[in-house]
Amino acid sequence: MTSYFADNEDLKYYVERGIEWEPIVTLAENGFRQSDGFATLDEALEAYRSALELVGEFSATRIAPRVPEIAHAPIRLEGGEVVFPPALDAIFAQVRELGLAGMCLPRELGGMNLPMLLHYATGEMFARADASVMSHHGFHGGIALAMLFLSTMEGTTQYDRDSGRLVRTRFEAQIREIASGRAWGSMDMTEPGAGSDLGAITTRAAQDASGAWHVSGEKIFITSGHGKYHFVLARSEPQGGLAGLSLFLVPAWEQENGRRVRRVTLERLENKLGHHASATVALGFERAPAELVGERGQGFRQMLLLMNSGRLSVAFESLGVCEAAYRMARDHAASRVTMGRTLERHELIADRLDEMRSDIEGIRALAIAGAWHHELAHRSRLAEHHLARDAGEARRLGATAKQHQRAARQLTPLAKYLGAEKAVEITRHAIQLHGGCGYLREQGVEKLLRDSVLMPIYEGTSQIQALMATKDALGAAPWTLARRLARARWQQVSARDALARRVAYIESLSLGAQQHLQRRVTRDRLRRVVDGPAVEWLAALRAGPDPRHDFAPALLHAERLTRLLADAAVASTLQAQAARHPERRDVLARYLDRAEPRARHLHDVITTSGERLLRELAARARVQRSRT
Ligand SMILES: Cc1cc2nc3c(=O)[nH]c(=O)nc-3n(C[C@H](O)[C@H](O)[C@H](O)COP(=O)(O)OP(=O)(O)OC[C@H]3O[C@@H](n4cnc5c(N)ncnc54)[C@H](O)[C@@H]3O)c2cc1C
Repeated sequence: MTSYFADNEDLKYYVERGIEWEPIVTLAENGFRQSDGFATLDEALEAYRSALELVGEFSATRIAPRVPEIAHAPIRLEGGEVVFPPALDAIFAQVRELGLAGMCLPRELGGMNLPMLLHYATGEMFARADASVMSHHGFHGGIALAMLFLSTMEGTTQYDRDSGRLVRTRFEAQIREIASGRAWGSMDMTEPGAGSDLGAITTRAAQDASGAWHVSGEKIFITSGHGKYHFVLARSEPQGGLAGLSLFLVPAWEQENGRRVRRVTLERLENKLGHHASATVALGFERAPAELVGERGQGFRQMLLLMNSGRLSVAFESLGVCEAAYRMARDHAASRVTMGRTLERHELIADRLDEMRSDIEGIRALAIAGAWHHELAHRSRLAEHHLARDAGEARRLGATAKQHQRAARQLTPLAKYLGAEKAVEITRHAIQLHGGCGYLREQGVEKLLRDSVLMPIYEGTSQIQALMATKDALGAAPWTLARRLARARWQQVSARDALARRVAYIESLSLGAQQHLQRRVTRDRLRRVVDGPAVEWLAALRAGPDPRHDFAPALLHAERLTRLLADAAVASTLQAQAARHPERRDVLARYLDRAEPRARHLHDVITTSGERLLRELAARARVQRSRT
């Protein structure tokens, strides 16, 4: 039987050996104390393997074969409602039957209580069959998890400290409905005037005399926005920018006398380049009844926490698309003969395929490491506040949560950036490798490129990921950077293992580039301070850097630095695997062959270019200031 799990050795490595499951399973099963839970780690792992095998087969045999049919019978908007074609309906009926919508939800609410890591890994397999099916599927369990997470944060979900069981939650009815596969939701942020710049959101939330909230405005580009439950970011406070935003749960309709009465209207079905099995809609809100979630003015912060999970999802979605493209390219290269040889035996093609494979292994290493830390951060924080039995245990869990949170914050934008950018690159190469037939619809490879182009756009564009990663990296204290750089340079010459020396080399190039940008930012800042009146110098220095002016050199190189940070992170992740499992040395060596020259090039560009453009931009800003 074809299976996207059984045929993927790299993915299987993580499940069987690469992932350290024990801390995740122990937290998920609350120390194996739940009466209806798994009794041992092995029992849990056996169940996880079965889930992966099930989804691996389902994706390969039930989703992938229906993709051509979906392409010919697209989603429609009829009478103000989205209508799925029969092939899509059939897929989601089976998802419901298999209970996959509630995979990661607690058993108490009708779910299977599986780790989020499984959601991500199965997401890769869904996406290998069809990225947009994966995406719509994610807006089922993902939204229910968001309800659970947000209500836990605001204190409206309670757990029993002894058993670890969930006792009550504010969103019980909604989560149960989603777990059964009968409902899903969406994340409604984007508006015509506010995409990357969410501080420009104009959708308003207001309270009436009884204290009830209503939301009015317009949202566009909303994935699975034909669902019932909408998390809406809206302006509720007088402050402008992000501080004035709160988060609301808005049910799209109510049942009145057995009839659906819409409170949120579907204005338009967006007409897209690809991602055709997912409905992307424009929404109208006209005093739609809403429930405030969490505290007023905290909406952006809450959404950011949810978006980290969404960004990891896109990294895995990209991985699935890359895997599909690589395999199509590889199979074609094995059978197509030109000039007396199969394509795979032409050096140039062999090199391209080898690079694709290595890139995919790199993305998977980063995405799984990010998801592992993300899950441990989340579960440790939950246990700290709701399950710890004494202050000592709570302190220990809090420290663990903080450590994993830091690692997840660092890895998430890198995984999203690398996965998304590589999805576009690899699918384009896959078309090229197919020659003329790659350009034709019936081959199916061009569909992968059309789907992939979305990856660097949604859940925060690649540029936004790069800005986040850059600011995070350059936020380190200068002496910390200097110490890490000295250590990396020492490792580069002294490590006994040749591969470790090569990993240290990439790390020292990355740290060298960070140090260069940090010094450049400091120099500009000092210049700006001394250009001002002397009496204000001390206050200006104490105020710290001004992101609008001081970060310009770092922002100019943000994407290059992010690529370098990603290479360094992949190399050190693969090195840790190689230290435990010698068979991974090959994977590391292959990655280093590609990453070393790239890192040298990126370091060179970052440390030697950009001055001319920065001068021009500064001059343009001066002219603009003098005019206003
Ligand atoms: C198919 C699809 C599904 C989507 N699903 C959802 C959804 O479910 N929910 C939702 O809320 N939104 C969704 N979106 C919207 C998506 O998140 C936004 O399109 C994205 O955030 C970019 O915003 P924008 O389109 O307004 O582009 P802009 O913000 O105008 O950006 C345009 C370009 O400028 C770059 N840019 C912007 N600011 C900066 C900066 N400061 N520095 C450097 N570069 C910058 C961007 O990276 C981008 O390349 C979806 C979009 C699509 C196409």
